[in-house]
Formats: sequence, C-alpha cells, structure tokens
Amino acid sequence: MTQFMMELDEDQRGIRDWIHGFAVDVMRPAAAEWDEREEFPWPVVQEAAKIGLYSLDFYAQQFFDPTGLGVPMTLEELFWGDAGLGLAIAGTGLAAIGVLTNGTEEQVGTWVPQMYGDAADVKVAAFCSSEPDAGSDVSAMRTRAVYDEAKDEWVINGTKTWATNGGIANVHVVVAVVDPELGSRGHASFIVPPGTPGLSQGQKFKKHGIRASHTAEVVLDGVRVPGHCLLGGKEKLDERLARARERAAGERGAGSPNAAMATFEASRPAVGAQAVGIARAAYEVALDYAKTRVQFGRPIIDNQGIAFQLADMRTRVDAARLLVWRASWMATAGRPFTAAEGSMSKLFAGETAKTVTAQAMQILGGNGYTREYPVERMHRDAAIYTIFEGTSEIQRLVIARTISGMPIR
Ligand SMILES: Cc1cc2nc3c(=O)[nH]c(=O)nc-3n(C[C@H](O)[C@H](O)[C@H](O)COP(=O)(O)OP(=O)(O)OC[C@H]3O[C@@H](n4cnc5c(N)ncnc54)[C@H](O)[C@@H]3O)c2cc1C
Repeated sequence: MTQFMMELDEDQRGIRDWIHGFAVDVMRPAAAEWDEREEFPWPVVQEAAKIGLYSLDFYAQQFFDPTGLGVPMTLEELFWGDAGLGLAIAGTGLAAIGVLTNGTEEQVGTWVPQMYGDAADVKVAAFCSSEPDAGSDVSAMRTRAVYDEAKDEWVINGTKTWATNGGIANVHVVVAVVDPELGSRGHASFIVPPGTPGLSQGQKFKKHGIRASHTAEVVLDGVRVPGHCLLGGKEKLDERLARARERAAGERGAGSPNAAMATFEASRPAVGAQAVGIARAAYEVALDYAKTRVQFGRPIIDNQGIAFQLADMRTRVDAARLLVWRASWMATAGRPFTAAEGSMSKLFAGETAKTVTAQAMQILGGNGYTREYPVERMHRDAAIYTIFEGTSEIQRLVIARTISGMPIR
C-alpha cells in the first residue's frame, strides 16, 4: 500500500504546473466576464478539452493515482484559477463518481466516456439527488422509479433541484426511490441517457457565487430508461433491498449507506480541495496587497493586526490541504473513514474558504469590496462550500455520529 505522501513527486509537480499555467493564462483572464454573464462557459471548457485537461483520460489518471493526491492537486489548481470556471470543468466529475461508486465495470465503460465527450464535441454530466423537500434529509426524497417488468424498463417521475449541469448534461445520473418503505436504503441510481424523452430542464437558478457554473431543476416526467441503466444492476439491487428489509425498523435513516451517500462520501475530499484552491487564491492576493498598500507611511503588513491575520490564513489553508490530502489518500488506499475523515476535510476546508476570503476582503479594504479586485468574487464563490455536498452542520453530524457511535440528531 502506498504510504501517505506530504509532497508531490516530480511527475505530479509537472502536472500541477501545467494546470497552473492553464489557470493563469485561460481561467483568470476569463473569470470576471463569465461571473457577470452567469452562463455556462463552453469556450473555456472547450479550451480545457483541447489540451486534454477536460477529458476522461486525464481524470481517470488522477482518480487512479495510487498516492491519492492526483485529484486534490488538480482541483486545488483549477479552483485557484477560478471557482465558477473550475466547477464548469470539474462538475462532470460528481456524476462520474456516481457511476464509479455504484455502477458495474460495463456501465462505467459505457457511460463515463459519454459524460465528457471529446475535444471536438465536448459534453458534461449531472448528478441529481437533491429535491425541493429533500436537501440535507435525503430520506425525504420523492422521485420514484418503478420497474416495468414486461418491458425491462424503469419509469422515473419527480423533480430534482440545484443540479449542477442539470438540463445541459449529455448524461444525467438520477437518484430515485425504488422502495418507499425503506427510507434512504430504498434508493437507487439510474443513468438517463442522452436525449431521453420526458427529461427537461426546469428553472435555472441565479446565484450568489460560482455563477459560471450552471445550476438548475431537472424535471422527470414519465422518463423510461432501459433495465441496464440501473447502476449496479437489478440482481444487486434486489439483494440490497432484501437485506435492508431484514433490518429492524428502528435503524432506518440513521446514517445508513445509500446510493447518494456513497457518491457524496467519495467526493467530499475532492470538494474540500476546491475550497482549498479558493482560499489559497484569496490569501495570495491579500498577502501581495498588504505588502504594497501604504497607509500611515508604511505598508499595512507592518501592522501586527494585518500580519497575524495573514499568518492565520496561511496556517488554515495548509491545515485544510493536509486534511484533504489525508482523506483522499485514505479513500485511495481503502482505509475506512473511522472518524469521518472525508467529512472532516470538507468541513474544515469549506469553513476555511469562507473565513479566509472574508479576511482577504477586509485586508483589501474598499478595493476588496469592489469587482476591480478578485477577492469579492472569491468571497461569493466560497460561500457555497459550507452548503453543497452536505452543509457544515451535516458534516458535523456525520463526524459526531462516527466518533461517538451514537444516533445524534
Ligand atoms: C450551487 C449549488 C449546486 C448544487 N449542486 C448539486 C448537485 O449537483 N446535485 C445535487 O444533488 N445537489 C446539489 N446541490 C444541493 C445541495 O447539496 C443542497 O443545497 C444541500 O445538501 C443542502 O440542502 P438544502 O439546501 O435543502 O438545505 P436544508 O437541508 O433545508 O438545510 C437548511 C439549513 O438547516 C440545516 N440543517 C438541516 N438539517 C439539520 C440537522 N439535522 N442538524 C443541524 N442543522 C441542520 C442545514 O445545515 C442548513 O443550514 C447544489 C446546491 C447548490 C446551491
């Protein structure tokens, strides 16, 4: 088993520098424009695809990197470039993880390539779990999938909300209830192939931050998908449901594994890495500014009140990265998260992004509050990191339950 590495090797450093170059040359100059336009930045994603940065091959290489550091390193660099554009490039990854964690090898081979398309015809994918009445409480999900045995098809009805890339995706991964008696254990994930009738985009949301990333409702009205679109297959689902039915009713919903949770658990360190990228970017802008901005005849960093803030900011960014790298290594090495280390990394990195971008804005004073400087955007972008992929409160709940073994509510 690969040991936990605290440093990138030479190859990894080469890849990191290549992504950094894309972030500097393509993402940073385009960031403010796409934030203002609040549209999906297809030209930027196409640029990334042209150089192989948005491609299945590249993400597969990082995902299967035995050190576990490939994914966090990639995401930190992209989100250092810009979070909205970063999510436009990385959003497909959540749907891909949905298939990797719940699908068969054949399903991975069939659907994941269609999520990315190719440089000549770029595609994106969406992972649709949240619903208007089922955000943190996944067990309240209502979207229903019913098996039509005669046709070997699943019929899906419901409305998903806040889906990143929802409605513009080539492939949608949809989590639905297959047995309402079983709470969150009665869920399953389905592929909705490109062009399937009955799937449409509902409202597109106007957001506070990450505005280049597309977020929308997805309406499923009598959507029929072939039996082979059930991730993991029918036999495995039937076995899982039978096991769940045997369990005592009192256990239901208390942190039980299910299709959406398996995806979120696997993706939490990756989301933490995105937050680290935003926090590092804001810290760097603030450090430069504090060294050059002169008030009372000396650079503002000459004041301990400013310098100590920067010391705290850097300490938090590095601590967040270490938690993210540890969780990512543990997941890759097959080490169980016995203290919810995945949630810990997302919690701390998300809170760090929010705190550090707010401190950066303060250090830049009036300039920090305007769109002339990027920290205003970074601060808006950072706010989502304590909300999506499990709010900070839900991460604390997961950690508290895991370390205590108690069904804390
Ligand atoms: C920009 C964006 C992109 C998103 N992308 C996706 C996506 O691609 N796919 C997808 O499926 N979903 C996505 N989401 C949905 C996201 O994961 C949910 O918004 C999130 O899980 C929180 O759910 P909620 O908004 O319903 O909040 P609620 O669950 O209603 O929570 C409201 C508040 O109550 C708190 N709270 C709730 N329960 C408890 C509790 N038991 N203890 C303490 N506090 C609690 C929460 O922490 C929060 O502060 C996205 C959301 C946004 C805004």
